[in-house]
Amino acid sequence: MAKQPILRQPSPAATTRFGEVPHFTQGLYECAAGAYAYMVPNGSWGETNIGLIDCGGESVLIDTCWDLKFTRELLKVCEPVTCRSPIEYMINTHADGDHCWGNQLFADKPIIATANTQAAMAHIRPDSLRLLKGASRVMARLPKLAVSQRANQAVVLGHYMAGMFAPYDFTGVALTPPTETFSGERSLYVRGTQIVLRELGPAHSDGDALVYVPSKGVLYAGDILFVGATPVMWAGPLENMTAGLRALCDYKAQAIVPGHGPFATLADIERLLEYWDWVPERLQRCALSGMSSFEAAHSVALSQEFQQKAFAKWDSAERIVTSAATLYREWGISEDGLPGKLGELAHFARQATLAEQLADNTPRRMHRFN
Ligand SMILES: [Zn+2]
Repeated sequence: MAKQPILRQPSPAATTRFGEVPHFTQGLYECAAGAYAYMVPNGSWGETNIGLIDCGGESVLIDTCWDLKFTRELLKVCEPVTCRSPIEYMINTHADGDHCWGNQLFADKPIIATANTQAAMAHIRPDSLRLLKGASRVMARLPKLAVSQRANQAVVLGHYMAGMFAPYDFTGVALTPPTETFSGERSLYVRGTQIVLRELGPAHSDGDALVYVPSKGVLYAGDILFVGATPVMWAGPLENMTAGLRALCDYKAQAIVPGHGPFATLADIERLLEYWDWVPERLQRCALSGMSSFEAAHSVALSQEFQQKAFAKWDSAERIVTSAATLYREWGISEDGLPGKLGELAHFARQATLAEQLADNTPRRMHRFN
């Protein structure tokens, strides 16, 4: 990478949103002249990085925060740029709420995303997460030594989800879908600045896209790229995930902004490729021995070999449960499960159960259950 991004507008906090020691300073960094990234330590749940491109009189925002409070806070930090170049375009890299639930603050501007992202955006309603946040807090307060194992699971799930949602307030969030969609690749020109949007998904989600600014050499990768946090594959296939990561390297960008975590180096991308090589291979062995995806995820994550890997220390290692379920689908292994929202809840309960056993993992608040 040619040069280090410069921190222009610090907005530091003593701890991260989850009470962890920050690994880097929160704030707006200038990656190249006019290309910015708002970086949020440590890249855990909803600690999303945001892009801002100053095209000389008009700006383009890449993604929003998970709620309105954090999105407004972000806009405040961006003011020195947006007072001379107001935000006139919004791009969503994908449909996860932590990248687009602030869209309503830009409802009168073009909002651009892949057609697959537009289709996926309606899947989770802000109101359901608001209700789930309330329910999680109730479940987390049930006595842990309750009568049945099922009740214990409810406490563990409640604690896990309550911990995840604690920093966020979904009140007032209105889903605001993209107004312009594309598939494959498209270029947006704003006051002469070319902004390349390229679809990489389905991989992390149904419609992942990267954003690249050729004149500035800056690449915004979205959630195909996590640094210091365990990646997750909701959609797959695995081949798109690894091809997408390799595609990031091809740009030879001077700054790479991941969806979560600090600025990425090519070595970070290599480490992710190692994760997506090693972990699926181990999961597949478990699958062949007849384990369910959940048993396989447990077996791999708790194995000594995994624990000795650098990626065992990445934030939220329990996300392997989600990726394992996606891989099983890809391998054509059908698993019994509850339909729809109940199925998603049961899925998070399994993830919480693994998190309970990875007590040293971060965010500690979501992993220590006593
Ligand atoms: Zn994200």
